[in-house]
Amino acid sequence: MDFMLTVSSSPEEYLTAMGIDVWLLRPRDGSNTTDDAKTDWLSLQQQVQRCQACALHQTRNHAVFGVGDVKADYLLIGEAPGMDEDRLGEPFVGQAGQLLNEILFALGLKREHVYIANVLKCRPPNNRTPLPDEIQCCSPFLNQQIQWIKPKILIALGAVAAQFLLQTEAKIGSLRGQPHVYQNIPLIVTYHPAYLLRRPIEKAKVWHDLQPLYQRICAHTHAPLQ
Ligand code: SF4
Repeated sequence: MDFMLTVSSSPEEYLTAMGIDVWLLRPRDGSNTTDDAKTDWLSLQQQVQRCQACALHQTRNHAVFGVGDVKADYLLIGEAPGMDEDRLGEPFVGQAGQLLNEILFALGLKREHVYIANVLKCRPPNNRTPLPDEIQCCSPFLNQQIQWIKPKILIALGAVAAQFLLQTEAKIGSLRGQPHVYQNIPLIVTYHPAYLLRRPIEKAKVWHDLQPLYQRICAHTHAPLQ
């Protein structure tokens, strides 16, 4: 890509530089209609499905936009689609997804209560770690999702999401367990469920990391699971 952008560039600047249509954000203040918001969201989804901004479009089966409640208080962000996600077009559907469902259940949540997305919308070959230029290309989509969802709490699952949101190269071991903020939104950093599948002994740390979220859920209203 031959455009010059910095981490401080706005999502709109990225999208424009990528040749992607830019929409005006409609605030949740009643000035937009439900139909407007749905159209905006669908348009963004279609942009992702058609996106060819990085080489990953050549090897994907499905771009994976995200899933869940677009008005959710909690937005969970992972790394990138894996094999199952690429096949089905939905994030966190394999073994790691099952574990994430169990974590959510322990918190008193279902997938429908949250929104789940990834930093990258297309699967890197052989699940390799996303490259910096791939993250740069794809991040406007996630930034737009965050701006529209306006979550009360962000949860970064794994190093890639945490390092992207915090613009740091610090290791996840030093980022988890600390309070963070992303654009005025409290951010919790914890391990990716795929890592927990390899290192189940670390599950207790994840539960510890998620305590602020659990306390908030306990203090607020969520219908008990049926
Ligand atoms: S990973 Fe993101 S930037 Fe790359 S092709 Fe897919 S949607 Fe586009």
